[in-house]
Amino acid sequence: MRLVILGPPGAGKGTQAARISATWGIPHVSTGAMLREAIAEGTDLGRRVEDVMARGHLVSDELVAEVVEQRLRRDDARKGYLLDGFPRTAAQTALLDEILARRGERLDAVLLLEIPEDVAIERMQTRRKSSREVRADDNVETFRERLRVYTEKTQPMLELYEKQGLLRRIDGTGSIDDVFGRIRAVLDGAAS
Ligand code: AMP
Repeated sequence: MRLVILGPPGAGKGTQAARISATWGIPHVSTGAMLREAIAEGTDLGRRVEDVMARGHLVSDELVAEVVEQRLRRDDARKGYLLDGFPRTAAQTALLDEILARRGERLDAVLLLEIPEDVAIERMQTRRKSSREVRADDNVETFRERLRVYTEKTQPMLELYEKQGLLRRIDGTGSIDDVFGRIRAVLDGAAS
């Protein structure tokens, strides 16, 4: 299964992606996680993206596409994958189409987790308080900026996937189990 998961920051994409990955046995390819790892390791890539990410802005389309294509060359992505955080703009959608064409593949579905902005902000604040995950870009100001950027850049992309009949809208409110149940219903339908 080849999937994309989309949703505003705070929609619970990462959590749901981990569950989808475990349930369907496909790697969870998260551009945010890969970029944060590059920063933590102090690689060339990490140094290039550090400032842009700390401001809540987007890394260049070409750079992210290259990171994704390289990751998909690994063996575990041969039978499928779940893209989380990419594509994020209409330009990145075109770059993903090129990657898919080079690989002779098609997407099965694009999952969109939808939540109201106040729920997103509340979740971010809860996440910040838990010591398990501390992110440099988790503060209300940067978060609002990430939400703004998400809406501005991501919305046009949704129309493209809607036209292609790939977009599946999923209510992202409620518990992790509630949301996963909705995703499962959609993907079980897609597989049959
Ligand atoms: P995320 O964990 O997906 O919220 O990503 C965190 C940050 O990584 C974003 O705010 C961007 O700075 C950067 N990033 C992740 N994915 C992309 C992408 N597809 N295009 C551009 N920047 C990205």
